[in-house]
Amino acid sequence: SINMDKYHYDVGDRGDNIIPIRGENAISNMNSLPKLGICLVGDSPASKSYVNRKLKACQEINIDAELFNFSENVEQDQLIKHIQSMNHDGILVQLPLPLHLNKLDIIHSIPYEKDVDCLHMHNLQRILVYGELCEMLPCTPAAVLQILDYYDVNVIGKKVTVIGRSFLVGLPLSLLLQKRNATVTVCHRETLNLDQHIMNADIVISAAGHPKLVRNVKQGAIVIDVGISQGEKKGRIVGDVDIDVVKNQASLITPVPGGVGPMTVCMLMRNLCNIWKKKQGQPVYINPKLSDAYLND
Ligand code: ADP
Repeated sequence: SINMDKYHYDVGDRGDNIIPIRGENAISNMNSLPKLGICLVGDSPASKSYVNRKLKACQEINIDAELFNFSENVEQDQLIKHIQSMNHDGILVQLPLPLHLNKLDIIHSIPYEKDVDCLHMHNLQRILVYGELCEMLPCTPAAVLQILDYYDVNVIGKKVTVIGRSFLVGLPLSLLLQKRNATVTVCHRETLNLDQHIMNADIVISAAGHPKLVRNVKQGAIVIDVGISQGEKKGRIVGDVDIDVVKNQASLITPVPGGVGPMTVCMLMRNLCNIWKKKQGQPVYINPKLSDAYLND
């Protein structure tokens, strides 16, 4: 049996900046362990580094993970055949994929009950459309909710501005926040007066991949930075928020690097453990705050 006691993440600069992921996520009582299979296409340094973090997280909690690295020009059929032949309990394909591959067809070749990234239409539909409480959540949105929960941020009725509407982050996150009874404004590339939507918000969540997009927030606002881009200095990763200014206005702010990124890996581990528990007929961990949100709509 194993547990996630070693699994701590630095998420912010409010003094108490460690989120202990244990208890609720404990994988104790597991008398056997799941196995994760990761498919990586090509050798982009960013993708490799994300994959390495996932492999390391598995190693930390003694979960077996296997990496399949395909060449950049692998054919669609070959990749799909491989995915269909995998006997792992959780399967993920590292994104982005080269343009000659059909991302959705590849995601949908993963059996939905093994879809640890929670990107298969079956899973997204039951969670985001029907509001079913299930054993998995899309990892980055789950990470944002986990951080808000840890800091006891109540989103009910609050004005939340989400910047970005991507399939991976902005869109699912905005729907999950609505299910939690937040009042959500979604901004994107074509949004006029973005600064106004930001200033108006009690909670700003930025997932645009655009440095210094968030330059000022309302005094006391909560700011979650999901952006990742290259900074001016080579090799430096920066978020969407101009942290030097905004940290003096916000009551809670997550840093980049750190913050949402590492928590996302943790949510992947939670999905994997939950998938495994479900398969074994054990009760799964379900984010308790979600249940009162999914009430009537
Ligand atoms: P991710 O998958 O991390 O969310 P994407 O690059 O797929 O990143 O999506 C970026 C999102 O951010 C898009 O929905 C886009 O409309 C939004 N976005 C990009 N630039 C801006 C901007 N300058 N202002 C507002 N939204 C933006």
